[in-house]
Amino acid sequence: MEKKQFQAESTRLLEMMIHSIYTQKEIFLRELISNASDAIDKIYYKSLTDPQLVFDKDNYFIKITIDKDARELTITDTGIGMTAEELETNLGVIAKSGSLAFKKEIEAQDGYNIIGQFGVGFYSAFMVADVVTVISKALGAEQGYKWQSSGADGYTIEPYDKETVGTTIILKIKENTEEERYDEFLEEYRLRAIIKKYSDFIRYPIKMDVTTHKPKEGSDKEFEEVREEQVINSMVPIWRKNKSELTDEDYEQFYASKHYGFDKPLSHIHVSADGAVVYQAILYIPESIPFDYYTKEYEKGLELYANGVLIMNKCADLLPDYFSFVKGMVDSESLSLNISREMLQHDRQLKLIAKNIASKIKGQLQSMQKNEREKYEKFYQAFGRQLKYGVYSDFGTHKETLQDLLMFYSSKEKKLVTLAEYVERMPEDQKYIYYATGESNERIEKLPQTELVADKGYEILYFTEDIDEFAIKMMRTYKEKEFRSVSSADLGIEADDSDKSADAENAENQELFAYMKSLLEGKVTSVKASKRLKSHPVCLSSEGDVTIEMEKVLNAMPNSQGVKAKKVLEINVNHNVFQSLKTAFAEDKEKVNLYTALLYNQALLIEGLPIEDPVEFTNDICKIMV
Ligand code: ADP
Repeated sequence: MEKKQFQAESTRLLEMMIHSIYTQKEIFLRELISNASDAIDKIYYKSLTDPQLVFDKDNYFIKITIDKDARELTITDTGIGMTAEELETNLGVIAKSGSLAFKKEIEAQDGYNIIGQFGVGFYSAFMVADVVTVISKALGAEQGYKWQSSGADGYTIEPYDKETVGTTIILKIKENTEEERYDEFLEEYRLRAIIKKYSDFIRYPIKMDVTTHKPKEGSDKEFEEVREEQVINSMVPIWRKNKSELTDEDYEQFYASKHYGFDKPLSHIHVSADGAVVYQAILYIPESIPFDYYTKEYEKGLELYANGVLIMNKCADLLPDYFSFVKGMVDSESLSLNISREMLQHDRQLKLIAKNIASKIKGQLQSMQKNEREKYEKFYQAFGRQLKYGVYSDFGTHKETLQDLLMFYSSKEKKLVTLAEYVERMPEDQKYIYYATGESNERIEKLPQTELVADKGYEILYFTEDIDEFAIKMMRTYKEKEFRSVSSADLGIEADDSDKSADAENAENQELFAYMKSLLEGKVTSVKASKRLKSHPVCLSSEGDVTIEMEKVLNAMPNSQGVKAKKVLEINVNHNVFQSLKTAFAEDKEKVNLYTALLYNQALLIEGLPIEDPVEFTNDICKIMV
């Protein structure tokens, strides 16, 4: 029979499965049982809309059987089954999103050791088996098929007569090696423990023939061994359980078994609402960013169950975009089972649930921010950007909801602070919430523009992400305090002597500044004596709504319209350089030209803006050196 080859990606994954470490191997059973349960869900879901299909609960189960002599462990389900094509596409290739995401994740983290913790579905069978056989008959099909593979060398598919609809997976358990005892996967007690640990909440019975001892008939002293079929799992879904019965580990197990993420969740929320709308939910705040999170490919959403039956894998309507990182599930009795996707969008119940969930998530984040600051910072490192987008998006509609979740690095505290903490600390005479923008905290720290504000003893928030300034522009104020960039023309700092002297200098040096401006035609809108510089000779500031940072961000966008900030070249009149400028203006215009070009380029460099002609700039420096 023709042997087909796995896709290259699948081969690599298989290799990893085969070489995974021993302690992780037990999760293969969780993966296969979870697939079996999904397959039964599918048939059940179908039965809701198909009157021909009668779902008799007793006919749907998962059965585990052991044949020690043959070293075979068999997992049978009465689910929807697979056609030959489905066997091919589902098991021959890693095309399924779960596996593919996993693969990217391990590439990113270089983590052989995360396999066992989180599993990757069907392929994990190869962790414990030399040969995997899948016999399946799809619902509505005449013919069954057998898929078989002994790992990396490929697989075969051939017709196989199977009476009932469903899937049987036969694992030929590996021989023991010096380090690894595979035998235990043929032991009743061991399998029972694994099922209890990982699959207790599965909704369908997981049956196994077990040996028990019963009193012999007619005797109460003598016992006999009997084989008896037992249901191993409790079948109560975790979300229907009482919170007090559950441990953090239970929630983590559920997260892993559902493949919500490959990390350990930072936090979970278990909701049991029985008010205006009745639903249960288990929601997770992940610890790390999914590899595709900040791309178009990322799909937000929660699993949606209607009275215990999965009706949608990713219901996007349940989560606002700004909380798109949240994973988990919702189960509601208030939803109709055979509701269509289109109808769902307009469903009043669903809207209520979504609203309720959003406020629960906010509450959880707030309490984490208050009581577990380190954890919150971890979360914020990963998803803070999304919250800021949330503030900015939809014309600021969500700013009230999100503003207290924001944090920025503080010049004073040297760590992330909330806006409330900032405002709380503001001295009486401070008018604005000051911020400075730049590539990194280190660079902002050195910005000349911060000098005056810092000198006043005011705290400055450091904006290092593109979105920061846009988000706060959308907010405009926080607790009635306006935001103000340290580079903006009006800092709202009370006029003091330096202010007056700057005005006087501007009047006195009107001609010089006008001349410099003419040299920088089209580049700056004015040249003037600075009110904010203390030790640096020069800086750029901006007038009007568009700041220099915004200009940078907007122009980096694909369809940039060439937006320009109104730039002002500010000169520190108390700096020796200014004296040289003045002298040159009186004696040697050529020198003024040279100095102006140099000062302007320096200001650009400090701003993190490119200088137009670096060669000319270095030549200019050489000129003053010789
Ligand atoms: P995932 O479950 O993450 O999609 P798997 O590798 O575990 O990835 O399974 C791939 C696909 O094979 C499943 O999505 C499902 O369509 C199909 N499949 C696996 N096991 C079964 C089964 N027991 N019955 C029906 N279909 C199955």
